[in-house]
Amino acid sequence: MSVCQSTQLKTLNTFCISASADYISIAISIESLLALWQEAIEKNHSILLLGGGSNVLFTENFKGTVILNRILGINVQESDIAWHIHVGAGENWHELITYLFKQQIYGLENLALIPGNVGSAPIQNIGAYGIEFKHVCEYVDFVELKTGNSIRLTANECQFAYRDSIFKHQYKDGYAITAVGLCLNKKWEPILTYGALAQFSRENVTPKQIFDAVCEMRQSKLPDPTLMGNAGSFFKNPIVSIELACKIKSEYPDCPQYPYNEQSVKIAAGWLIDQCQLKGYSIGGAAVHTKQALVLINKGNATGQDVVALAAYVYNKVAEKFNIFLEPEVRFIGSKGEIDAVECIS
Ligand SMILES: Cc1cc2nc3c(=O)[nH]c(=O)nc-3n(C[C@H](O)[C@H](O)[C@H](O)COP(=O)(O)OP(=O)(O)OC[C@H]3O[C@@H](n4cnc5c(N)ncnc54)[C@H](O)[C@@H]3O)c2cc1C
Repeated sequence: MSVCQSTQLKTLNTFCISASADYISIAISIESLLALWQEAIEKNHSILLLGGGSNVLFTENFKGTVILNRILGINVQESDIAWHIHVGAGENWHELITYLFKQQIYGLENLALIPGNVGSAPIQNIGAYGIEFKHVCEYVDFVELKTGNSIRLTANECQFAYRDSIFKHQYKDGYAITAVGLCLNKKWEPILTYGALAQFSRENVTPKQIFDAVCEMRQSKLPDPTLMGNAGSFFKNPIVSIELACKIKSEYPDCPQYPYNEQSVKIAAGWLIDQCQLKGYSIGGAAVHTKQALVLINKGNATGQDVVALAAYVYNKVAEKFNIFLEPEVRFIGSKGEIDAVECIS
């Protein structure tokens, strides 16, 4: 465990927002995490756990202690049919995929290049190109910080849903994810359901080809946070009633829609924003990305408040035109901890 000299958060969030914390410390083990938590509680500090900072927006300076989860370790076990991989929450998600690739362990290639830490992956059930974290998860380990009790939930118990899990609800405050368990079948099956991957033939495609295709698509579509601050998709794809989806489809036949369940349909939020002619629209230092309307960017000197104002503008325009109320995927962090993102922009 260590306490950082710096109190700057700019390099610790992919939006590259200039904000500070009173203290920043690093937890490298469960013991150090618990000790840092206890110390902050005794000092009456607000506490924020942070992984790679790729799904947060600092709306102001954080008045408290930020604890960076850097619990490392990758342990691979095998059964006849599967690889069972236990991974420390502080490992980097993409580096885990490349590490496993080197050992010829496949199954995560569709999720390549998603920024952030392994421990954050279950929280919003990360997903891309036809696969979600829940498809590869065996269990999630976390601790109740007040008592130090370790808890393991099986994938089924995590209540995974679209960009959602039990870690955004029942186990949100006062808990820290410390490790995840993944299960990858030894008999590799390609997942080619996502449009652009359907060009491959199931019989011949290799994991490397999918990995490369996913990386290429992501690099061509999404701004690189090291060059242009952003937090990926700013809003979730809204899930709407079949009636509303049909009404929109009749007016806009090219509206991308995906069946969600028997009563609802998922609509591409980026398309909705684009229909409002908002690509390139900016407020202060924040702008809607010119290539991908779902991504809000920091042009260089955006404040958290610029991004909030822009998100509110986008929210209102989409609501006026489509009667759909977008919900941020990004978590808003105020001076004492997470704040309600929908309340901030509506
Ligand atoms: C360019 C770009 C592309 C992206 N593409 C995708 C995509 O395709 N699919 C997708 O699903 N997401 C995507 N994202 C979002 C992001 O990468 C994921 O949400 C990722 O899992 C966040 O990980 P993180 O470690 O950066 O989380 P952070 O931003 O550090 O934290 C996110 C939240 O989790 C909490 N938290 C962090 N660690 C812990 C812990 N150990 N225990 C308890 N709580 C914790 C934090 O307090 C915060 O509320 C993208 C982001 C960017 C910048």
